Amino acid sequence: MGPGKDGNRRLRRLIAGNWKMYGRTADLGEALAVDEALTAGQGAAIDVIICPPATLLLPLAQMLEGRALRVGAQDCHTAPEGAHTGDISAEMLAEAGAAAVIVGHSERRADHGETDRQVRAKAEAAHRAGLMAIVCIGETLGQRQAGQTLAVVSRQLAASLPATATAANTVVAYEPVWAIGTGLTPSAGDVAEVHAGLRSDLVGRFGAEEGTSMRLLYGGSVKPGNAASLLAIANVDGALVGGASLKAVDFLAIVAACPAQ
Ligand code: PEP
Repeated sequence: MGPGKDGNRRLRRLIAGNWKMYGRTADLGEALAVDEALTAGQGAAIDVIICPPATLLLPLAQMLEGRALRVGAQDCHTAPEGAHTGDISAEMLAEAGAAAVIVGHSERRADHGETDRQVRAKAEAAHRAGLMAIVCIGETLGQRQAGQTLAVVSRQLAASLPATATAANTVVAYEPVWAIGTGLTPSAGDVAEVHAGLRSDLVGRFGAEEGTSMRLLYGGSVKPGNAASLLAIANVDGALVGGASLKAVDFLAIVAACPAQ
């Protein structure tokens, strides 16, 4: 890790797949195919995680024990245990084999009314359980059109990251809500502007060393065809991939498009 030729610090990249509410036992073969390619050397210099639905977490983690591909979850409760029907704690996810958990995905913010405050508590719970928190933020189309993008994501970042966040236990994913699952992506200039703003916020809050070391992912319609250009943008340290993570061939093409550092 050190300053690259463009002056930005080069961090170990991370490509994370979010399967959302897709995937049955029969689909575990896709994850295994990804792992086989990684174990054979593809993407050896980057971190790769797949976050399947909770039902597949344990079997996938068992299949991948000691292998290259890591497993993550898509959400967690804030408490370690309790009377919370249907919820799963970060400790339970860790016991099932998760290394990371996505918190604050815009679909959870929209479907379940999750606030920044809850997202922050979930990230804190992830840290308590030893999981890496992948904290999602992003503006809506209306907010972008109103010129509020930088203010919105800066506010979300400040309110969604707990004091326990470090570069080792936290990754921030900038995901414009209007780009998720739509095939639309912001321009390279727009992504660069947002990521530069987030980087400066992180440095302001956590200091130069920690703030320049915390990885910033871009998410929203990352596909094999646009991955190389998105991943080449300054301060883009990887990607959070939804739809294109479901098929090994697509996901591996994105991994292959990711520069090592
Ligand atoms: C996501 O679910 O986080 C996501 C970015 O989805 P997609 O890649 O399908 O836009």
